[in-house]
Amino acid sequence: MQIAFIGLGNMGAPMARNLLKAGHALTVFDLNANAVASLCEAGASRAGSAKEAAAEADVVITMLPAAVHVRRVYQADDGVLAGVRRGVPLVDCSTIDPSTVRDIAEAARAQGNPFADAPVSGGTGGAQAGTLTFMVGAEPALHERLSPVLSAMGRNVVRCGDTGTGQIAKICNNLILGISMIGVSEAMALGERLGIDAQVLAGIVNTSTGRCWSSDTYNPYPGVIETAPAARGYTGGFGAELMLKDLGLANDAARAVKQPLFLGALAQQVYQAMCQRGDAHLDFSGVIRQYRERDGGQA
Ligand code: NAD
Repeated sequence: MQIAFIGLGNMGAPMARNLLKAGHALTVFDLNANAVASLCEAGASRAGSAKEAAAEADVVITMLPAAVHVRRVYQADDGVLAGVRRGVPLVDCSTIDPSTVRDIAEAARAQGNPFADAPVSGGTGGAQAGTLTFMVGAEPALHERLSPVLSAMGRNVVRCGDTGTGQIAKICNNLILGISMIGVSEAMALGERLGIDAQVLAGIVNTSTGRCWSSDTYNPYPGVIETAPAARGYTGGFGAELMLKDLGLANDAARAVKQPLFLGALAQQVYQAMCQRGDAHLDFSGVIRQYRERDGGQA
């Protein structure tokens, strides 16, 4: 199948590589020339714009930072909608707000292109290993049509409902994740301060009722989990800035339906403080650093 892939960042690049490995022909576009060059070395063809990438495609996939980039890539004069053939399905895997999804889906449908939102979980490790979970918002027939392509990049391809529902699932999941990481950070830092060994504490939590993904797979205390970003200075992984964006999406969505998010609002402020002090580029589990600093330095 001929696929246009737009957005070759931490997630998009390994996802695109997995499509190549599965035997698909890829035309790629990104503003970052190095990212494009690296994919072309792996066998993809280069396009000069999103419009050009979409022109010959049987499917268009986008993986971009935020709603503003997604709107631009689809709706600009040199964007996907200006170049794509009628009937070709469009899939956005970025994490963005459901109302932007609905706007773009409507514009796409008006010119005869079905549109699905398919945000992912599983992080950069899952993108590389091809084990992502796709949360798909699409009519059943479109979901069925897209499943074989998405399966080349992920292990679970789950239909959440019609257009926009993939983003709802993703936003709710990351609301839990953002809050749980702060909870585990507070407990690990308190335990350390009170004098228990961090490995012992993590072992107890992970066989007790406090256990969660933030404690047993991605523990924020350095060295507890060898493969977690905490063991490599909070580099790589899921940036605090992206977690801040996702909590902003959850709080905005909640405001629109007058639903209280007490902890969601507080968690947004905690990550905002982390970004404001210069740690926006670190993995979000670096939020624990705010609890471990004392006497003017890192504990
Ligand atoms: P990233 O910033 O690493 O990559 C984004 C890419 O989009 C960059 O290469 C950038 O050059 C490109 N881009 C931006 N504007 C463009 C434009 N107008 N035209 C073409 N290319 C453009 O981001 P990422 O970590 O790959 O995340 C992408 C999305 O996936 C985000 O919405 C994020 O929230 C979500 N996500 C990320 C993770 C993670 O662990 N990193 C996990 C799940 C979901």
